[in-house]
Amino acid sequence: MTRLAVKESTLRWRDDFPILNKPTSSGKQLAYLDNGATTQKPTQVLNALRHYYEFDNANVHRGVYELSARATLAYESARREIADFIGAKRSDEIVFVRGATEAINLVASAYLREHCKPKDEIILSVMEHHANIVPWQALAKEKDLLIRVVPIDAQGELDMTVFHSFLSKKTKMVALTHISNVLGTVNPVKDIVAASHNVGAKVLIDGAQATAHMPVDVHDLGVDFYTFSGHKTFGPTGIGVLYAPYDLLLSMSPYQTGGSMIERVSFERSTYALPPLRFEAGTPNISGAIAMAVACRYVLDTDYTKIQSHEADMLTKMEDIFSTYPRVTSFGHSPGKIGMVSFVYEGVHAHDIATIMDSEGVAVRAGHHCCMPLMEYLGVAATTRVSLALYNDAQDMEALARGLHMVEKTFYG
Ligand code: PMP
Repeated sequence: MTRLAVKESTLRWRDDFPILNKPTSSGKQLAYLDNGATTQKPTQVLNALRHYYEFDNANVHRGVYELSARATLAYESARREIADFIGAKRSDEIVFVRGATEAINLVASAYLREHCKPKDEIILSVMEHHANIVPWQALAKEKDLLIRVVPIDAQGELDMTVFHSFLSKKTKMVALTHISNVLGTVNPVKDIVAASHNVGAKVLIDGAQATAHMPVDVHDLGVDFYTFSGHKTFGPTGIGVLYAPYDLLLSMSPYQTGGSMIERVSFERSTYALPPLRFEAGTPNISGAIAMAVACRYVLDTDYTKIQSHEADMLTKMEDIFSTYPRVTSFGHSPGKIGMVSFVYEGVHAHDIATIMDSEGVAVRAGHHCCMPLMEYLGVAATTRVSLALYNDAQDMEALARGLHMVEKTFYG
């Protein structure tokens, strides 16, 4: 693809996101570079939310009337579409949850709690988000399990030698992120799955940072559990997905109980519905699921090949900008990393950087990024993170350069 063609397609993509074309309160054009936290939503997703409430709103799986049937059809079609999006063979392998956090809690509670004994082991890595640490830690405390933490090398890649050395018959769960939300590293999921399965361990992959940037095929990866959040993939907040092969879901007990997840209830006993409804107690986020499927369709229509080539181009631009600032140290240099730079600026607090950037209309994240153990490992209290999505363009990079210039000028004259 020529540079010009890349530029034209980005402009078109950018126009799909109304919020990006609204000026900030100081009259600056918004350069939204906090996509690791959440992505913006295209008109197609906004329209789907409105359409649902305007034309189809009713509760699902209960009413016999037309409106409820339509809502149920839309909700279940969304499940089918999202199954296709991540290469799941069956739509009933898709459980709707609030997001990656809830999915990981679900697996810890409804799977591992029932499949572990004292001294069994869970493998995590130092680059995990708190969402993929704390649920396991709580369970480890309750069940007397041991957590082993895979370190990273200077590039920000998992130390696979250590990973392999951790695997044993005691390993019951390997829970790793697909892509680091600080370093941008893409982990070798297929190798991880193959090695873990060799010792009989299950593998959960936290795909929160993956689906906006690269195609995911759960079948090809061979994972036992895969999760991602709608809001980080151009969809709404409060909706996400847990994927697991049907038989695995069938072997699991409910996570929460109540309406919609039962077969029969009496005061003596209750029997549970088949998956995925067994794991969807109460009224689900119907509009969220429908709009999340539209977001997935948007990504597929946009085309991952184009997204990846454009984001790689923007990452190069971004790295060129940072390379002119000797006081900047960045973390994560894995060759296949996604468009993300986390950095510290000598003598300047991350929050001050983000505040100065904000005055230029540049939205970046400052803090520990829900990765306190990683911050400790890197020996920093916080970093500033610039994270790209498909709509970021050369103008955003120019705004970032202006912001960095302001930081340098403010602190070093
Ligand atoms: N894992 C990773 C790698 C993340 O980046 C995030 C969100 N920052 C989460 C898990 C949690 O996602 P959610 O807040 O959507 O549940």
